[in-house]
Amino acid sequence: MSVTTYQEQLYPTLKKYFGYDTFRAQQEEIITSVLQKKDCLVIMPTGGGKSICFQLPALLFEGLTLVISPLIALMKDQVDGLKANGIEADFFNSSQDNIQQQEILDKVVNKQIKLLYVAPESLSGLNDILKETYISCIAIDEAHCISSWGHDFRPSYQQLGFLKRSLPQTPIIALTATADKATRQDIIDQLNIPQAKQFLSSFDRKNITLEVRPAEDRVTQILKFVEKRSSESGIIYCLSRKGTENIAEKLQNKGIKATAYHAGLTFEQRAKVQEDFIFDKTQVVCATVAFGMGIDKSNVRYVIHYNMPKNIEGYYQEIGRAGRDGLDSYALLFHTYADVIQLRKFTQGAANEEIQNAKLDRMKEFAEATDCRRKILLGYFGEYLEKNCGNCDVCKNPPEFFEGTVLAQKLLSCIARLKNKEAAGTVIEVLRGAQNANIISKNYQHIKTFGIGNNISFRDWQHYLTQLINQGYCEIAFHKQNTLQLTEVAKKVLFENQKVLLTKPTALKEKRESIAKS
Ligand code: ADP
Ligand code: ZN
Repeated sequence: MSVTTYQEQLYPTLKKYFGYDTFRAQQEEIITSVLQKKDCLVIMPTGGGKSICFQLPALLFEGLTLVISPLIALMKDQVDGLKANGIEADFFNSSQDNIQQQEILDKVVNKQIKLLYVAPESLSGLNDILKETYISCIAIDEAHCISSWGHDFRPSYQQLGFLKRSLPQTPIIALTATADKATRQDIIDQLNIPQAKQFLSSFDRKNITLEVRPAEDRVTQILKFVEKRSSESGIIYCLSRKGTENIAEKLQNKGIKATAYHAGLTFEQRAKVQEDFIFDKTQVVCATVAFGMGIDKSNVRYVIHYNMPKNIEGYYQEIGRAGRDGLDSYALLFHTYADVIQLRKFTQGAANEEIQNAKLDRMKEFAEATDCRRKILLGYFGEYLEKNCGNCDVCKNPPEFFEGTVLAQKLLSCIARLKNKEAAGTVIEVLRGAQNANIISKNYQHIKTFGIGNNISFRDWQHYLTQLINQGYCEIAFHKQNTLQLTEVAKKVLFENQKVLLTKPTALKEKRESIAKS
């Protein structure tokens, strides 16, 4: 079929197999590109309609479209869905025996299948049909999995570069819901598709309210938040298995249907959790990051991050599981330095430690921002938002600044007196004149800044410290036992009386209270 004939077929095919009259933004352009056998990289938010971008061309191409997907558990459902629409599709993975696999290969050779879903680790079983005569197109779903810089790296994806080498004429369409600029380039490099046309959809999910709170008493805060929404579905992401179990249990004690989900569960147990969640038998899933990929549930009303994700891509992907139905939804992130320190430990010694740390820094900046958070989030993906969003905590409660030079001087000079050798907790204890064993054993009660900040609570000092770190006057030395260190510019505050503006912690408290009431 020539390209012009293809063009005439687009709308009738869309109607016949998918039941729609019009394409969504960019779908038509993407499909046309694929039909012209051009490589493409499609970045479209979850629920945006990526599948049609390769499913529709698959129907028009003569041979098979291979769909590489990491989600073995979902392949059967996906294929059943296609079959129900009258589309010849199948899957090929380790759950099948030799006879079943051979039947599929025969069907491919006889051109009886239009779409074949395959896990990357099962590709070697397809050697006999990996020929241009059989394969018209290759779709790589969840393409970000190829990048170890991204948020969901799958080693099995890294071998996919061979596809372009063995089938140079076959167009590759790589799709994902989240990839920042670096990850996009990594996908293109690794798949050997330097000419790929990139299609970027807007990342803005206006219906999701963004909020970041300090992580003090986060369990209590979460219990309150969830209790107010006891009839709604939500996901709570934690870094550790223990965290998921702990919160699930506390919620259960409050009579809320909550379940933990993590890699320690068996395949069956995990499938059960997913199913119960989809059918509203479970209200809240407390999960590690593995949960949610590929889960099609439109009415998730909130996503809570008990711990900070390791980068903005992961954060965006996870909050994107809320509000797919377009209704108002909530993304709540808890932020503490303890998490940052923990995440730093994970990256230590990794081959791409520098990139991962840079990404973590951006995540941290987002969490500590005093500007519209959506602007920062979209900016990260290269999208510019002209106006503030009006639907994030910063927009709703703009921080009030006051002149905090003296406070800053007290804190910074205390760090100096402690010779950049102590972590935040000890610095604040010295400022507050704490008389505990740690302080006494080190003789810190005799240093000059001991107790000069005893009129300010520990929490408020933490609040000021975060801002001084953000403003670049001091930093946490992650490679030196997380000690607090002064930077060059601290001198300007200490010796040249440079003014420092800080936000009030009371504003934070009021904000929390007003949110708690809402
Ligand atoms: P993604 O893979 O990007 O998360 P899907 O491909 O699963 O999204 O599509 C999300 C939903 O949008 C599906 O229910 C799909 O049928 C629907 N959809 C896709 N394209 C269109 C369209 N052109 N018109 C109406 N609905 C569409
Ligand atoms: Zn905003």
